[in-house]
Amino acid sequence: MNKFIYLDNAATTKIDPQVFETMRPYLEEEYANPSSSYTFAGNIHAKVDDARSSIAQFLGAKSSEVFFTSGGSESDNWAIKGVADSLSAKGNHIITTKIEHHAVLHTCEFLERHGYEVTYLDVDEYGLVDPAKFEAAIKPTTILASIMFANNEIGTIEPIAELGKIAHDHGVVFHTDAVQAFGHIRIHVKEMNIDLLSASAHKLNGPKGVGLLYIDSKVKISSLIHGGSQERGRRAGTTNAAGIIGFGKAVELADARLEETNAYETKLRDKLIQRVTTEIPYVKFNGDPVKRLSNNTNFCFRFIEGESLLILLDSNGICASSGSACTSGALDPSHVLLAIGLPHEIAHGSIRFTLSRDTTEQDIDDTVDTLKKIVDRLRNMSPLYEDFLKKNKEA
Ligand SMILES: *Cc1c(COP(=O)(O)O)cnc(C)c1O
Repeated sequence: MNKFIYLDNAATTKIDPQVFETMRPYLEEEYANPSSSYTFAGNIHAKVDDARSSIAQFLGAKSSEVFFTSGGSESDNWAIKGVADSLSAKGNHIITTKIEHHAVLHTCEFLERHGYEVTYLDVDEYGLVDPAKFEAAIKPTTILASIMFANNEIGTIEPIAELGKIAHDHGVVFHTDAVQAFGHIRIHVKEMNIDLLSASAHKLNGPKGVGLLYIDSKVKISSLIHGGSQERGRRAGTTNAAGIIGFGKAVELADARLEETNAYETKLRDKLIQRVTTEIPYVKFNGDPVKRLSNNTNFCFRFIEGESLLILLDSNGICASSGSACTSGALDPSHVLLAIGLPHEIAHGSIRFTLSRDTTEQDIDDTVDTLKKIVDRLRNMSPLYEDFLKKNKEA
């Protein structure tokens, strides 16, 4: 099989050809700096504003509440460091969860080294945050909560509106890393009690290197990137005009296709889950079966290493992930799988397949067929499996 199957859409997506075509003029002919005052820059400036207002509308926000950044990681850093700094006189306590992306976790760890106190909430076996536990963790010194909308490894969707309501009842600013959810789930920031939201274009068929932070106009936040007066003086750096215009187009397409894409992906996702869990023995399916991103599957295959599985899948032209792209290569099992209570030896055998609207039923069937062979082969070489079979025989 020489075909190439891409099932790592949580790591990044292919740019949509329409997005690419929309961006092209702003890289070629209309290359002016949108902050310049001559006529040559005027149209670009207007196009950036159009992108801002259509994205704001998609979120149920005002244009003046949308700030463009270099991506999800910067937005998470800005939200957390910016609120921690601006509210430091009020308190030093931040609440987050054990299953956040490293852009949130490592930012919180940085703040702990600078005098802040951070509570990392546990999640249940499906990866869900318990709203009652969240409320119980709030203290008089709590200034910020940062809880992801949907998990990038196991696809679990958190009860964001409910968590946001609790935060607001206690005067706590509420941030959500919605990088996996934005463009995939309908989000209305005001109805969902969200004060700050991070998103990234390359997770929804847009270009890499552009993201946004939505900041409710009532929220006090310090700047992260200091310099020029771009983004209304809040985020310096020459405007990534082509990127932002492409982001706007990606959002427009995601909006128009959202329900259709979700229905299509859900059908393929459920087929993949069904085949893997019935045709391969000793498999654990991870994440919530219902409150789940339409394109995410995550499995643990007992007695084998996720990394070995990945290498053999790769040699068969299949791109998947053994957790988050940022940790592959690291020997520690995923912090998300440990947080949902999996023992180390099982968490090590995890694989994530994330689909897109370009994934076909044939891709799913080919992947499962290949996976069955690979799992078999690796288990036959696994001393763990041999021990297990021996014990089973004795019992
Ligand atoms: C990809 C991702 C990020 C990082 O976004 P970048 O734009 O790649 O910096 C942050 N959080 C989550 C949940 C992600 O999936």
